[in-house]
Amino acid sequence: MNDVADAAAASAARQTERLKLTEIFFSLQGEARDAGWPTVFVRLTGCPLRCTYCDTTYSFYGGQWWEIDAILTEVARHGARHVCVTGGEPLAQKRCLQLLEKLCDAGYAVSLETSGALDIAGVDPRVSRVLDVKTPGSGEEARNLWSNLPLLTAHDQVKFVICSREDFDWAKQILAQHRLHEVCDVLFSPSAGQVEARALADWIIEEKLPVRFQMQLHKILWGEEPGR
Ligand code: SF4
Repeated sequence: MNDVADAAAASAARQTERLKLTEIFFSLQGEARDAGWPTVFVRLTGCPLRCTYCDTTYSFYGGQWWEIDAILTEVARHGARHVCVTGGEPLAQKRCLQLLEKLCDAGYAVSLETSGALDIAGVDPRVSRVLDVKTPGSGEEARNLWSNLPLLTAHDQVKFVICSREDFDWAKQILAQHRLHEVCDVLFSPSAGQVEARALADWIIEEKLPVRFQMQLHKILWGEEPGR
């Protein structure tokens, strides 16, 4: 190869190692099994969904390209054991799989927050996948990739954001149909401003559902403050 071809190949190789990020920040994990742990969040830019209740619409556009090794360096700077890769929809960028693998290789406890609309088969098995099942109230029920559910293990978690009593009844039916609670933790969260947290807690108790009620800890502590 001549010098121009070498430079082009080197440039292409570098391109394969980059991801578009909206932010990296250090906070407490507000959700799921790791709630309360100091955690570094790596928020990837972009999402193909438009859920009615989305609180991270600022991650849909913009962002900056980061080399994966630079992300690792920035994560290390915070000195935390837990790392959460989130979005947007992180799996919308194929190189997210490389990032997850490298974070696991570096010894972090890694979780991935994903919409449930994209294939999780290629995710490193050391990663704890927090997979949404989109309810009718999300407006994105049709995007659920049902073939993901048989791939779940005890290391993973499934999350339903409940927007109404109708959503609750729908989620109950999906739970029974797929027996998700026999595979991994199942989380039910109230959609802020749509369902009273206490109402959802009462429904779970009344129906004796084998699910974990959860509220978003970071919102209780800091509200909608960005980077929290
Ligand atoms: S999948 Fe997540 S980031 Fe994407 S629109 Fe829905 S809530 Fe927002």
